[in-house]
Amino acid sequence: MSQVKNTKPGEHKHCQCQDTQNHFLERAFESLKLEAAQRELLLAPFRETIVSIPLLTRRAEGGNLHTFMGYRVQHNHARGPFKGGLRFHPSVNLGEVRALAQLMTWKTALVDIPFGGAKGGIAVDTNTLSHHELEILTKRFVQKMELVFGVHHDIPAPDIGTNPQVMAWILEEYSKTHGYTPAIVTGKPVELGGSAGRLEATGHGVAYLTGKMASEISLGIDNASVVIQGFGNVGFHSAQGLAAMDARIIALSDARSGVVCDKGINIEQAQRHVAKTGWLENLPGTEPVNNAELLELPCDILIPAAVEATINCDNAEAIKARLVIEAANIPVTHLADATLRERGITIVPDLLANAGGVLTSYYEWVQNLQEFPWDYDTVLRRLEQRLGRVYEQVRDLAQQHNTDLRTAAYELAIDRVNKAVALRGF
Ligand code: GLU
Repeated sequence: MSQVKNTKPGEHKHCQCQDTQNHFLERAFESLKLEAAQRELLLAPFRETIVSIPLLTRRAEGGNLHTFMGYRVQHNHARGPFKGGLRFHPSVNLGEVRALAQLMTWKTALVDIPFGGAKGGIAVDTNTLSHHELEILTKRFVQKMELVFGVHHDIPAPDIGTNPQVMAWILEEYSKTHGYTPAIVTGKPVELGGSAGRLEATGHGVAYLTGKMASEISLGIDNASVVIQGFGNVGFHSAQGLAAMDARIIALSDARSGVVCDKGINIEQAQRHVAKTGWLENLPGTEPVNNAELLELPCDILIPAAVEATINCDNAEAIKARLVIEAANIPVTHLADATLRERGITIVPDLLANAGGVLTSYYEWVQNLQEFPWDYDTVLRRLEQRLGRVYEQVRDLAQQHNTDLRTAAYELAIDRVNKAVALRGF
């Protein structure tokens, strides 16, 4: 995936995302007139856990024995158990996890589900491990985090580099000592108590909000040109949802490169090509484009669905979209955010745009606790209703306070967390 220019993978990027988050928060703190002590309390993580996981590997670089670092940052649980994904990616580090954990607190508060915020992960390139090695690594991570996780304490979920299979291993390892406990993790396979619709939920929410937002700015979604950076779970399901609304997906990219076709890319064909070859490269009927060029293509809607800080000072002036929908977490740096806003580009912020994922995780947790599964249509109907309602609250507050959608979303979320913290006492 594209990195910030002039930096090594993982370097600076995490500083940028913490910095970015702090700047966004400051705007909302000012508007809410929070005192310094309240701000300090809201920013401080509750607990940070770092573990080392030794693993005898056959393929990883640096010999047979490799020690991987694992993290779980629990930011705030005033409104309910800690909730957030696990990321398996080489650039995972404490700073990045800390910023992403905090974002989960605001995201769960914004969509008003009874959870706090957490994030975790392992610094690992999963491509260097066999399926079996990944299973052992995941289960050892759970052994070390066993006291940190809990159905009413902290519930992990998928993020970049993890998937329903990894969640199944977490369920298995945790259940060894605690008895069969499906509600310990969300994003599981449906066969093990996962929710219908959870796999596509984040992308479905992105597509739904994109359609809603497009009509708000009088941009018909029908035939609107869309560029999507990232073709993982979120990018793929966003593309699929938008194609179903007759939007024209003119460019897509993955970690290696991108493809472009002005007439529109057939998403199912792209998926089959990736399943066969591993990459989008050489997708029949498309031209190659690199990740940097892709973001600057003329289009109506740009959807960053990859990693952090891909829209930054280097390219913000060159973005040509009318709408930017943040399917990834923290994909736009604060300086780029200011530039885009000045240029009249509307941004739907991450804590709203990609909240369909954690919202459906909540539905999964509820179904697990009640031992009563819902059908697919019920899940997606509730997802759309809730996201639509939250969007309208954010839009109305933004209009009332004459501010942007991001600041309004942060204001709503911070206010809820701040009130919960105060009510529980210090
Ligand atoms: N990793 C996803 C996110 O960043 C989902 C988290 C969850 O479902 O708990 O929102």
